[in-house]
Amino acid sequence: MRVTQIRNATLAVEYAGIKFLIDPFLADKGTYPPFPNSLRQDDRFNPLVSLPASLDTITNVDAVIVTHLHLDHFDDAAKEALPKDIKMFVQNEEDAKEVRNAGFQNVEVLREDTIFKRIQLIKTKGEHGRGEILKVAGLVCGVVFKHPNEKTLYVAGDTIWYEAIQEVIETQLPGIIVVNGGDNQFVGSGSLIMGEDDIYEVYKAAPKAKIVVSHMEAVNHWTLSRNELKSFIQEKGISSTVLVPDDGESYKF
Ligand SMILES: [Zn+2]
Repeated sequence: MRVTQIRNATLAVEYAGIKFLIDPFLADKGTYPPFPNSLRQDDRFNPLVSLPASLDTITNVDAVIVTHLHLDHFDDAAKEALPKDIKMFVQNEEDAKEVRNAGFQNVEVLREDTIFKRIQLIKTKGEHGRGEILKVAGLVCGVVFKHPNEKTLYVAGDTIWYEAIQEVIETQLPGIIVVNGGDNQFVGSGSLIMGEDDIYEVYKAAPKAKIVVSHMEAVNHWTLSRNELKSFIQEKGISSTVLVPDDGESYKF
């Protein structure tokens, strides 16, 4: 398989010969106003950085997986750029309805036993924060990819560390885990996605897996930088296990 960090949570995954695009957030740099009530405010329009490849290259895929409908995972630019007949996978009927309303004709809700071109896709749980903020953040999912010729890949999505993540690791035994790790926060919200300690918990649960950290430094409410995370994993002695890709960087597993 090949996993390419595009930007924010947008990933290109080539798995068992099939190309997936995950969480397409495809606007030009600086298109949207900052998420309000965040640490980094004012003139920090989103996305904070440019795409590392052309839209044509990024959207040339067999299927798209949208883990939830927040702007930084599925935006107007993605709705415009993606072919309307492309296979779209979403977390539930509610999201399917919205994606269909955006003009997409081939939308399917992910389940635990979804098969797409001989690849098993397993929808997994996530929690987009802790406590009160969960009501505002709404539902999210992750996805596990399985195929006899590939290691198991677990893309956890916008979630903090909690017991359901441990459960996926224990039951699915992924060789590769992608986590969203910018520790994005609103003022007073606490972590909406993983920070250093969450990522360390993932490592402890799956010490033999490669962990790829996505969703960094691309939208204004991030609080954990790549450099800070790199120092942390160096201190813990896990730099060869936890990978912190730049946008455009790609791994073959
Ligand atoms: Zn996000």
